[in-house]
Amino acid sequence: MDIPKMQIPVKEIPIGGKVKLFMKREDLIHPEISGNKYWKLFFNINNYLDLKPENPLIITFGGAFSNHISAVSAVGKHFNINTLGIIRGEEIEQKWSANPTLVYAKRNGMNLKFVSREEYRHKEKLTEFLKHEFPEALIIPEGGTNRNAVQGIKMMLNKDTKDFDYLCTAVGTGGTVAGLSQFCEDNQKVIGFKVVDDASLDEKISELTSKMNFHLTDAAFGGYGKISDENIRFINDFKSKYGIPLEPIYTGKMMQKVFEMIDENYFPEGSKILCFHTGGLQGIAGVNLLLQKQNRNLII
Ligand SMILES: *Cc1c(COP(=O)(O)O)cnc(C)c1O
Repeated sequence: MDIPKMQIPVKEIPIGGKVKLFMKREDLIHPEISGNKYWKLFFNINNYLDLKPENPLIITFGGAFSNHISAVSAVGKHFNINTLGIIRGEEIEQKWSANPTLVYAKRNGMNLKFVSREEYRHKEKLTEFLKHEFPEALIIPEGGTNRNAVQGIKMMLNKDTKDFDYLCTAVGTGGTVAGLSQFCEDNQKVIGFKVVDDASLDEKISELTSKMNFHLTDAAFGGYGKISDENIRFINDFKSKYGIPLEPIYTGKMMQKVFEMIDENYFPEGSKILCFHTGGLQGIAGVNLLLQKQNRNLII
């Protein structure tokens, strides 16, 4: 994977009021390997390809709408590498063709293996089995989080990001917030917006960063993948006002929570807040299909 020549601009979101809000559109880094997933895969893939494996194979894990699965399948296509996606939920095997993320992954040449939620929960066991079965493969954990991923997140920081008091990112498995924490300036505070109810996240992140400069806040709004009409309104409103698309699993929830915190004066007057757009827009198509079935308003 290359370091893109294009510099991602940091743009102000003109909200008025006592604090200044900005966004870095990491979603624009690559049309198919979007947002933080690009950087989380960067060293994982490059280090693996440097080893010149004879029959390269990348194996990874994810849910049926996973941005990580989508990104890994695109890496497979671009580099002509075989990819295998272990997908949570046996029942999805019957209906994968109605899921835009999985259709896209298949079209990129990814092999999909569907496993029960029980099996998926015990991924370590599965990983051991896969290591044995495919000794030459690169096995990347769910969401792509590992030490290489944390190193890659460093690339989201540059001279344009130094001048902010707060750095904000959505948190799934924690690799992104760990990378921001590890590599940001000493005076910067990192806020992770948790979209999953996972009580062990603090501990997991602390294993990936040596710094204590991060703080997690709950932005699950009812749980991982739960979508409220209020959040859909927020996302549609945000896009029409500021021209920036968000999705309802990560960035939409983060931004709704950021706005709430601004309203509650969490940030001292004059604060400069930078939110990372971590991508994930591929997920909107699948979400809209679900919303349509439920006769609800769609994401525009
Ligand atoms: C995966 C993902 C995240 C979460 O990143 P972690 O490193 O797993 O915490 C945030 N936003 C988007 C859009 C994602 O796809």
